[in-house]
Amino acid sequence: MSAVAQVIDVNAAVEAEQELTDGFHLVIDALKLNGIETIYGVPGIPITDLGRMAQAEGIRVVSFRHEQNAGNAAAIAGFLTKKPGVCLTVSAPGFLNGLTALANATTNCFPMILISGSSEREIVDLQQGDYEEMDQLAIAKPLCKAAFRVLHAADIGIGVARAIRAAVSGRPGGVYLDLPAKLFSQVMDAAEGEKSLVKVIDAAPEQLPSPAAIKRALDVLKSAKKPLIILGKGAAYAQADEEIRSLIETSGIPFLPMSMAKGILPDTHPLSAGAARSTVLKDSDVVLLIGARLNWLLSHGKGKTWGDAPKKFIQVDIEPKEMDSNVEIAAPLVGDIGSVVAALNQGIKSGWQAPPSEWTEAINARKEVNISKMTQRLLKNSSPMDFHSALGALKQVIKERPDAILVNEGANTLDLARGVIDMYQPRKRLDVGTWGVMGIGMGFAVGAAVETGKPVLAVEGDSAFGFSGMEVETICRYNLPVTVVIFNNNGIYRGTDTDPTGRDPGTTVFVPDSRYDKMMEAFGGVGYHVTTPDELKRAVDEAMDSGKPTLINAVIDPAAGSESGNIGSLNPQSVVKKK
Ligand code: ADP
Ligand code: MG
Repeated sequence: MSAVAQVIDVNAAVEAEQELTDGFHLVIDALKLNGIETIYGVPGIPITDLGRMAQAEGIRVVSFRHEQNAGNAAAIAGFLTKKPGVCLTVSAPGFLNGLTALANATTNCFPMILISGSSEREIVDLQQGDYEEMDQLAIAKPLCKAAFRVLHAADIGIGVARAIRAAVSGRPGGVYLDLPAKLFSQVMDAAEGEKSLVKVIDAAPEQLPSPAAIKRALDVLKSAKKPLIILGKGAAYAQADEEIRSLIETSGIPFLPMSMAKGILPDTHPLSAGAARSTVLKDSDVVLLIGARLNWLLSHGKGKTWGDAPKKFIQVDIEPKEMDSNVEIAAPLVGDIGSVVAALNQGIKSGWQAPPSEWTEAINARKEVNISKMTQRLLKNSSPMDFHSALGALKQVIKERPDAILVNEGANTLDLARGVIDMYQPRKRLDVGTWGVMGIGMGFAVGAAVETGKPVLAVEGDSAFGFSGMEVETICRYNLPVTVVIFNNNGIYRGTDTDPTGRDPGTTVFVPDSRYDKMMEAFGGVGYHVTTPDELKRAVDEAMDSGKPTLINAVIDPAAGSESGNIGSLNPQSVVKKK
C-alpha cells in the first residue's frame, strides 16, 4: 500500500470504530521508541500541540524564550549523552534561530536533531506567500550533516529513524527534520501506524581500526623521544575514559587536553602537560591526536607554535576525511576512539618503554615555573577584582565540587578561566567550542542541568551573557540548579572605550555598573552583587549549596581585559590613520 493510500477517510473510520492515530502521535511515538526523553524548544504554529502532547505522553519538554538557546541545549545534551539532542521550533524565523545552533552542533560534532514545523509545500514551492513561507529544507541542507522532510504520516517512523542514525553514526553532527503543518493532522489506522515505526538498532556502530594501521601507529610512537598525546572533545564525547587513562598511564606519555577534553584525566595529573602547553607543542617529536582536529585551535599543526623540529602526527578520528586536512598524518587511525585506544593498549601491554626521562623532566620543570607564576597572580587581592583574582575563587570552587559542570564563555573570561580552573572529571567543562561562538551559555547550562541533574556553574563575560540572558527566566521556571557568575567589566573586552566624536557610548561598552543580579531576582531567583574574591567564593558556595537559581554580578576592573582575549592576533587592525 502506498503511503498516500494509508491516509484514510476519518469519517468512514470513525463510523467503523477503527482505532486511529495521526502525525502528532506518530512523531511522539517514534521519538519515544528510540529513547528520546527530552525535547528542547519554543512553542508556536504549527508545533504547539506537538509539544503539549509530548509532555502529556511523558517526554520532558523544556520551553525556552529563544530557539537558539533551545538548540544549544539540545546540542550539549547530545555531547553529554551520545544520543541526539532534539530541538523543536516553529517555521521560518524560529527555524532560522534554531539553525545557528544546528550549524554550531555540526561544526563541533555534537549529535542533534532540529525538528521544525513548516508551511504548506504547495504554496511554498509556488512562492505564493504562505504564513512564514520558507524553503527550510533547502536552507538547512548546507549547514548540517543531513536533512530530511516527511510528507506522509506513514513515513514518520522512517524519517525519525534516519535523523537519529545520521546524527550519531560516524562523525556525529546536526540533522534537520522538516515536518510540514499538514503532516500533523494526517490520520491513519493506529495498528498500521505502529507498524510503520522504526527502532534504530546499533545507531553508532563500533568502527574498528585495521591491524596494519595500529601497527604503523605503534611503530611511529615507539620511535619517539618526545611523545605527546593531545586529547580533544571527540575523546570526551566517546566516553572511553578508562581506555584513555590506561593508555596514558601505561605508556607514560604526557598529555595535553583541549578545552572540552579537560578532566578526562584530572588537570592535576602528573602526566598533564597543560601548564607547559607552549613547550610541548614546540618540542615534541611525535604527536598522537585523539579526537582533536588540527584546526585554528592548534595553529593548523604548523608554524611558530609547533617549532622547527620535524614532527610526526598520529591521528585517531572516526572521519577518514579528517586525515591530512592541515599537515601530513604519518599514521592515520580511522575508527571509533574506544576501539582504537583499546587496540593501542593491547599493543603496548608488553615491551613498552616509557619516554626518556629528559623529556618528562623538562616538562615538569616548565610546569613548576608556570604554575608558581600563576599562583601568585591568583592570590593578588586587587580591588576592584581583575580576572585572575576572581578566577582564583572559582578555581577553588571546582576543586571542592569536582562533579559540578562548568559552562564558560566570553573573551578574557573564557581564555583565562580555561587556563586557571582545573577540571577533575570528564565532560564537566562545556564552552564555546570550535567556532569560539558567543551565546551558548544559558542554553548549555539548561541542557547540562536537565540531562545530568548535577549543579551547573556558568562563568560568563557580561557581553557573552547578553546573547542568551533572557533564559534566566527558563532557569527559574524549571527551578534548575544553575549558578551564573557574570564577570562584569562594563563591556566587550574592556569597559573603557569612548566615541571619539563624543556623540554616543563607545562601540564596545555597556551601561556602566549594571546590576545583572536583579534580572534573576525578577523571576524569583537569587541575586548577589560582589566586589571581592572572598565575597564571590561565599556567594557561589551558598548558591551551589542551596541549588537555587542564582546570578552573581561580579564586579571586574573595567580596565582589566585585553582586546579579543587570547586571540587578538585574529582581529584585523587598520594601519591607516585618517587625517
Ligand atoms: P577539539 O576542539 O577539542 O580539538 P575537535 O572538535 O576539533 O576537538 O575534534 C573532535 C574530533 O573527534 C572530530 O574530528 C570528530 O570526527 C572526532 N570524533 C568524535 N567522536 C568520535 C568517536 N567516537 N571516535 C572517533 N572520533 C570521534
Ligand atoms: Mg566584559
